[in-house]
Amino acid sequence: YSLQQLKNIDRDMILHPQSTPKEVSTNGPSMIFSKGEGIRFTDMKGNTYIDGVSMLWNVNLGHGNKELAQASYDQMSEMAYGSQFYGNSNEPAIRLAEKIVDKAPGDLNSVFYTSGGSESNDSAFKFARFYWQLKGYENKKIIISLKWGYHGVTISTQRATGIKEFRAFSGSSDPYIYNAAPHLTAAEQGDRSHPDYENSIRGLIEKHGSNNVAAVIIEPIQGAGGVHIAPDGYLEAVKTLCEDNKVLFISDEVICGFGRTGKHFGVDHWGMVPDMITFAKGVTSGYFPLGGVILSDEIKKTIDTYDQDIPHGFTYSGHPTACAVGLKNLEIIDRDDLTAHAAEMGVRLQQGFDELEKKHSTFTHSRTVGLLGAFELMRDRENEVPFKNHENESIAGDFVNEGSKRGLLIRSFDYEEGMNILAVAPPIIITKEEIDEVLSILDDTLSFIEKKWLA
Ligand code: PLP
Repeated sequence: YSLQQLKNIDRDMILHPQSTPKEVSTNGPSMIFSKGEGIRFTDMKGNTYIDGVSMLWNVNLGHGNKELAQASYDQMSEMAYGSQFYGNSNEPAIRLAEKIVDKAPGDLNSVFYTSGGSESNDSAFKFARFYWQLKGYENKKIIISLKWGYHGVTISTQRATGIKEFRAFSGSSDPYIYNAAPHLTAAEQGDRSHPDYENSIRGLIEKHGSNNVAAVIIEPIQGAGGVHIAPDGYLEAVKTLCEDNKVLFISDEVICGFGRTGKHFGVDHWGMVPDMITFAKGVTSGYFPLGGVILSDEIKKTIDTYDQDIPHGFTYSGHPTACAVGLKNLEIIDRDDLTAHAAEMGVRLQQGFDELEKKHSTFTHSRTVGLLGAFELMRDRENEVPFKNHENESIAGDFVNEGSKRGLLIRSFDYEEGMNILAVAPPIIITKEEIDEVLSILDDTLSFIEKKWLA
C-alpha cells in the first residue's frame, strides 16, 4: 500500500484512542510509525525523530531491541499461550513474579497479572474492597485519588483520574470514587486551617467516615497530569493517615516502575512501602502488553483464606509471551545497570535544564526524577504570568510541533489555559551525548518559540 492508501484506510476504518475523532476522521493519522532503533524512530514519510517521551513513557529500553524480540520468538515457539485460570500457571509468569517481587519494597511479595495500567488499577480497587469485606468491613468501598492523577480509562479508573475531561467522559461513573486536592502536605498532617482541608485526603476520610473508605491511590510522580513530584514528607504523611484510618495505600507505578525514575519504584525515593503497587508500561518496555498488581503479604494472606473462586481475572493475565518479554526486559535492566544509569542521565538532564533556564527567560519550573522530567513555559516567570493561548493553540502545543520539526518528539500538557508543561522522558538507555542532543534541540526550539510568542 502507498502511504496515502494506508492513511485513507486508517481514516475510514479506525476509531483512535485518546485522539480527536473529527480531526483524525478528516485528515487521517498524523504519523504512521514504521521503524525504531535505540532512542529514535522513523515514520512512513521517512522522518526520523528522537523519542523524547519513550512513546507513552513505556519504551524504556528504546526501540529495536533484538534480545526482547528473541525472547518473544522463543516463548511463542515453545508455547505462545496458556491461561492462569482455574489455578493453572506457566513458567515465564512464575519467574517474572519472582523477579518483580525481588525489586518491590517491604512485604510486597506477590503478583496479580493484567494486560495494562487501567486493568491493574481497576484490579487494585477490587482487591482493596474485597480485602475489607473479608476483614468484615462491608462498607469500605470509597477510593480516594488526587487531582492531576492519571489512573486509566475503565469506568472506575477514569473516575479516579483527576483530570476533568477524563472524569466526565460518556457520563459513566463509579459512585465510590473521589478526587482530593493534590499534595497538601500540611492538610494531610492535620492542619485544619489549610484552605483546602475539606478537599484533602484527610478531609475526605473525615467527611465520608473511615468505615466507608477502602483505599487511596497516588502516583508518586504524577505523569499525564504534568509530571508533578510528591513533595518530601507527603507520601509518608498519607501512609500514616491511611494506617490510622484502616485505609489501604495503592501506589500507581505504571510510569514510575522499573528504573524510569532511577530507582526500582517511585516510592523508593521516599523509602515508603505501600499496600499495593500497580505496574505496566516499563515492565516490558512496551514490547508486549503486560501489567499487574503487587500485593502485600497481609492482603495476599487474607485473600488466600477465601475458599471459593474469585470471579476476577483477564484472559491475558500472566500471558507467557508477555511474561517472557518482561523477564528478559528486567534481566537487561539489571545486567546493564540501567536503573543507576537513568539516575545518572537524569542528573545530566537536570543540569541541562538549569542551563536552559539561564539562557531562556520563558523556561521555568524544570524538574526531573531520573529520566522522568518536565519544564514549563511562562511569559513572565518571576511574576508567574502564563502565556495565553493564541488562535486556540497553546505555546506548549506549538513547542511540540516546532520541536518535532527539529527532530525531537516530546509531549505537552495544556489542560487549562495558561498551563504549559512539557515532558521529557526518553528511553533509559539514552547516552550522555544523546541527552546533549535532546538539550540542543530544546535550546533551538526555545529560541524560535520565544521570538515568536514574546513578539
Ligand atoms: N496509570 C498511569 C500512571 C498511567 O500513566 C497510565 C497510562 O498512561 C495508566 C495508569 C493506564 O494505563 P493503560 O493505558 O495501560 O491502561
